[in-house]
Amino acid sequence: MKIAIIGGGAAGFFAAIHASGIGREVTIFEKSPKLLSKVKVSGGGRCNVTHRPMEISKLVKNYPRGEKFLKKVFRHFSIQDTIEWFESRGVPLKVEQDGRMFPTTDSSQSIIGVLLAEAEKHKIKILIATGIKELNPTKSGYELITDKGVFRADAVVIASGGHPKSESYYFLNSLNHNINNPIPSLFTFNTPGESIRELMGVAVSDGLVKIEGTKLNYRGPVLITHWGVSGPAVLKLSAFGAEWLHEHHYQARAIINWNGNFGENEYLQQLINYQKSHPNRKVYSHVLFDTPSRLWEHFCAKSEIESNQLYGNLPKKHLNRLVQNLFCYILEVNGKTTFKEEFVTAGGISLEEINPDTMQSNYHPNLYFAGEVLNIDGITGGFNFQAAWSTGFLAGKSINY
Ligand SMILES: Cc1cc2nc3c(=O)[nH]c(=O)nc-3n(C[C@H](O)[C@H](O)[C@H](O)COP(=O)(O)OP(=O)(O)OC[C@H]3O[C@@H](n4cnc5c(N)ncnc54)[C@H](O)[C@@H]3O)c2cc1C
Repeated sequence: MKIAIIGGGAAGFFAAIHASGIGREVTIFEKSPKLLSKVKVSGGGRCNVTHRPMEISKLVKNYPRGEKFLKKVFRHFSIQDTIEWFESRGVPLKVEQDGRMFPTTDSSQSIIGVLLAEAEKHKIKILIATGIKELNPTKSGYELITDKGVFRADAVVIASGGHPKSESYYFLNSLNHNINNPIPSLFTFNTPGESIRELMGVAVSDGLVKIEGTKLNYRGPVLITHWGVSGPAVLKLSAFGAEWLHEHHYQARAIINWNGNFGENEYLQQLINYQKSHPNRKVYSHVLFDTPSRLWEHFCAKSEIESNQLYGNLPKKHLNRLVQNLFCYILEVNGKTTFKEEFVTAGGISLEEINPDTMQSNYHPNLYFAGEVLNIDGITGGFNFQAAWSTGFLAGKSINY
């Protein structure tokens, strides 16, 4: 039996390894001259391979697209299985404070090494620089058209990854699967006209960022960058708001509460209390609400507070402005920037047409999908690779010709 795997990335390798067996000839077709190229650069070269284990119901909340589908997939192969798979093959993993998991070597090469070794052990054929141009179902299987000739297979796993351009999915046209418009996810917000960019490098640990006119709001660290704002709260917002932001051409108003522990009234009340208890202290130099001092000075300046203004006689107008800057700082977003070159594609093969217990197409026998080519994407933290391992495993194991 001939099995073709389209794509030599994380999902393709996992599918190939788990599809192998007696009487099976498994071939990976990779368009580029390199294998596992995203694994190599991932996590800044360390490969954030998965996340700290958690219940499936909680895990799926980290996927803006694919939540319901993955609930079933993860029952077959979840985080604990990933950890065991790598560790039992000599690649111990460690968990960092924020839950991200990496190989203890801090090198993506460890992950690449074990995937290549497993592929060799299972005698998987690998054809690099062999992109599939067309994939045609035939009476007895599939015909794969490449520049290097025509190949035939009894079963096919499509693991060709995500691309934010529809053209990259053309080779799948003959399958008549629906493709959700592919668009970027995981990006930072550009705020070109905003003076806050001068505070590049300043971060708060627990901000709350909202997009005006939507219900989208996420809490977490916020980092001011040369271009605008970044950090986990912004990246999460970019992922869950990917479609809305795309439709609005990445023009929006972000509203930031710089300390998510405080509401508007709490800010006001604490400032009033502080005025009473410390009337002779200067507003500029006595920072409240754990605000970084440069950010506090920025708020004071924006609130038109004089540099030697004392708390005791701070006019109400300025006090209210300070509260507004702390609680609902408005940033005009215009454009986006890729986060450390780490992006994923929102959109891809429609999940309604795939069986989440096998990864098989509902339309074509012996045709399977795995990885980012599907309309599945996660937030940062190892969730994208986890989806690739789980769907790859399930597709490979389910081939039952
Ligand atoms: C810079 C960067 C860093 C990242 N870091 C992390 C991280 O640390 N943790 C995490 O969880 N996620 C991370 N991600 C996301 C993660 O890398 C992807 O979600 C994951 O690689 C998807 O795996 P995949 O196998 O589905 O697709 P890919 O890894 O994209 O592999 C698909 C492969 O298919 C090939 N291909 C495409 N079309 C064809 C064709 N027609 N014929 C043959 N081959 C084809 C491509 O060349 C590619 O090699 C990162 C992404 C980037 C870009």
